[in-house]
Amino acid sequence: MTDTLFPDEKLGHSYAKAFASDSNDYFTAVSPTAINEPQWVSVNPLLAAEMGLNTDFLQSNESLQLLSGNHIDPSFHPIALAYSGHQFGVWAGQLGDGRAITLGELPVKQADANQSELWDVQLKGAGITPYSRFADGRAVLRSSIREYLCSEAMHALGVATTRALSLTTSTTPVYREDVETASVVCRVARSHIRFGSFEHFHYGKAPESVAALLDYVIQRHFPQWVDIDDGYLRLFDYTVTQTAKMIAQWQAIGFAHGVMNTDNMSILGETMDYGPFGFLDAYDPEHICNHSDTNGRYSFKNQPSIGLWNLNALATALMTQIPSEDLVASLKTYEPTFLRCYRQIMAEKLGFTGYVDSDENLINQLLSLMEVNGVDYSLFFRKLCTFDQDPNAVRDLFLDRAAFDTWAEDYRQRLSHETISEQQRTQAMLARNPKYILRNYMAQIAIEKAENGDFSEVNRLLHILQNPFDEHPEAEEYASLPPDWSESLSVSCSS
Ligand code: AMP
Ligand code: MG
Repeated sequence: MTDTLFPDEKLGHSYAKAFASDSNDYFTAVSPTAINEPQWVSVNPLLAAEMGLNTDFLQSNESLQLLSGNHIDPSFHPIALAYSGHQFGVWAGQLGDGRAITLGELPVKQADANQSELWDVQLKGAGITPYSRFADGRAVLRSSIREYLCSEAMHALGVATTRALSLTTSTTPVYREDVETASVVCRVARSHIRFGSFEHFHYGKAPESVAALLDYVIQRHFPQWVDIDDGYLRLFDYTVTQTAKMIAQWQAIGFAHGVMNTDNMSILGETMDYGPFGFLDAYDPEHICNHSDTNGRYSFKNQPSIGLWNLNALATALMTQIPSEDLVASLKTYEPTFLRCYRQIMAEKLGFTGYVDSDENLINQLLSLMEVNGVDYSLFFRKLCTFDQDPNAVRDLFLDRAAFDTWAEDYRQRLSHETISEQQRTQAMLARNPKYILRNYMAQIAIEKAENGDFSEVNRLLHILQNPFDEHPEAEEYASLPPDWSESLSVSCSS
């Protein structure tokens, strides 16, 4: 056994290497600032194993020092990336990694091939960087817990996302509305390059840097496109498709990202930068999960069109590199891709093997019934898995039973066209409709305990959320309606 967390190979630094000889507006080399008395809140052995890390060494003091940013191996080459972005629809100029520092990239073996892929290993909340502007470079425990749990929950729900390897906290004070403590999430992702990374160079009037960044992404993620003529367009097509699919998945599981600014949109179409976010309780398309979003720009129902708005912003940033008619044609595929993906998932949630045109009505009628009756989104679909055995458990969720009965008649009719057995359908639906999602109040319980030094609930939730389709008899309360007090919770950008 080797005595290091990253066993076979050291962390690489392809990003720094690719741009080192340029004028280097791409990143700044910067080391994390140590925190006082770091301690574990949680480690994620599941991800560690996926990454091929030395899991026996994961909880060691050496790993704690490493993943809290207190010890930097001399072989590392930590950097903070520059990027810009549109925030709430307005050009915000330069932003950049103000509190995230990428330690390097780890080659991770892929399950289906002998190939490996580079994953960024990044510490979020690791201290001031040249991009911190007037802020402190820190992240507080509560928002770090939310990111840590939610990114793993999303992964388990099958949504493309950044991951979280560990969460540490400290006695270092952080000043927000109250004094809180500095925490560090070790975030892992295939890429941390954002739409805003390209906007940064486009608006900085550096088209050659836009091209260099495109080249880097293609080289690292799509080496098969390196020498072809339309590699840039293929990459843009990929981003459009993946973003459409990602947001279709968000919508289908009832997830809303509270800050869909272009600096929070990954070029690979992965969910990133969990600040304010929320899963729907009662189905409400107007729901705004970010308390600071007073105009509801990022309300639940606006998210698909905001995805397209953001892709338009990315297209503008790539205008010097890709013919505009190609960009426009690619953008036109967003809506059909989104709809195809959303409809297929919704059909599967309802227990159909595939979507047929008449399902549109059935889905829309269901959603409007849920909205009018204030029906809990996730609970409905989970109970629907056993509709054949216990129809009343579903019916009782609706105040207007007669309206539900009318819908249910159409639903039964539709089911009768399916060829799979009732049992197969139940199994398929149970694997599509999670029993557990990260509701705000659940995170809040874990946060309050953690703020008092008890990290057990964070770890309990991690286990449940990493297996959200399974039964967890000891956690039945989290699979029920949220308690009344959860309505008073609000989540804002202050993190
Ligand atoms: P966010 O809304 O969290 O995506 O952050 C927007 C921008 O603000 C990014 O450039 C972040 O790096 C930066 N930022 C947010 N919080 C802090 C902080 N506490 N210290 C330094 N920069 C921050
Ligand atoms: Mg961000």
